[in-house]
Amino acid sequence: MSVLVYTESENGKFKKNAFEVASYAHEVANQMGTTVTAISVNAEDNESLGAYGVSKVLSVSDDKLKTFNAKAYAHAIAQAATKEGSQVIIVSSSTDSKFLAPILAAKLEAGYAPNVVAAPEGTNPLTVKRTAFSNKGFAHTRINTDVKIIGVSNNAFGTHENDATAAVETFAPSLEDGNFNVRSVEIDKAVGTVTIADADIVVSGGRGLKGPENWGMVEELAEVLGAATACSKPVSDMGWRPHGEHVGQTGKPVASNLYIAIGISGAIQHLAGVSASKVKVVINTDPEAPFFKAADYGIVGDAFEVVPQLTEKLKEF
Ligand code: FAD
Repeated sequence: MSVLVYTESENGKFKKNAFEVASYAHEVANQMGTTVTAISVNAEDNESLGAYGVSKVLSVSDDKLKTFNAKAYAHAIAQAATKEGSQVIIVSSSTDSKFLAPILAAKLEAGYAPNVVAAPEGTNPLTVKRTAFSNKGFAHTRINTDVKIIGVSNNAFGTHENDATAAVETFAPSLEDGNFNVRSVEIDKAVGTVTIADADIVVSGGRGLKGPENWGMVEELAEVLGAATACSKPVSDMGWRPHGEHVGQTGKPVASNLYIAIGISGAIQHLAGVSASKVKVVINTDPEAPFFKAADYGIVGDAFEVVPQLTEKLKEF
């Protein structure tokens, strides 16, 4: 009856959200008086999950799962849950996990609560706090089904470390051809080395940057900060930046520790997707830009002057 957590990895390395969901699962297991089992797919260094409260890792190593496939991954996790008798399953709120969780929920007849931002308020019945109405409020959601799936928001819970290591067990779920009836044939990676979902810092540009030829200064600032690059919707619609960088209500949600918005007005649809970020810095020539109302720090100024100066100053640290 352990709590099961799906720990995401990329190219064999655990993503940052893997440590967050493992820490969250540990908190849930403590409340329930049980342990945490993780399921990892083609990941290395599985023992390291012990430091985040995982007792056992079911390690899946399968070439068919090299590329993410929501249906096949959901089937593998469902089999792990059945094997462990898990009634509570924890996943992240990444795009991949939001894709697979409803399939998993349908398979296990489970209730699924995504965008959870805090430890459960109680485990019997299980009640969780989630963001609602495009991050403008919170909902306290009770999951009444026997099997429950919790999707934890990125950067909401943090990590809790100890010096334990996890036991690792090889796990070979049975996957049929039907599990692969939708396949990714090619993956277009967004530009930049840090992905938006995993980033502590996001540097984002809007229409105020005038054209794609001016993105060099955004990329340079992002590089100095070790940040991911992002953009507003019109910027990706006009093809200045790849669609993978579009953030907001209809794009990717951002819950970074620092969000720097350059030449972005702060329309409600943009703010809806980035308001979960902890500290927001806005650079805009217009002191009346709506984004300043949501900002923690604001610079009224021309991005073409402010950003290069900021980058040069940061290089000194
Ligand atoms: P603009 O609104 O044109 O703002 C540009 C800003 O740059 C201005 O504030 C200006 O003062 C400033 N500026 C100009 N020159 C400079 C300079 N030299 N230095 C510094 N600042 C300068 N938008 C999203 O971003 N994400 C979404 O998910 C999204 N979903 C939407 C869904 C729907 C259904 C709809 C209707 C709209 C959606 N939008 C979304 C669009 C949204 O309403 C805005 O139109 C968009 O966010 C504006 O983008 P922007 O801030 O880059 O451009």
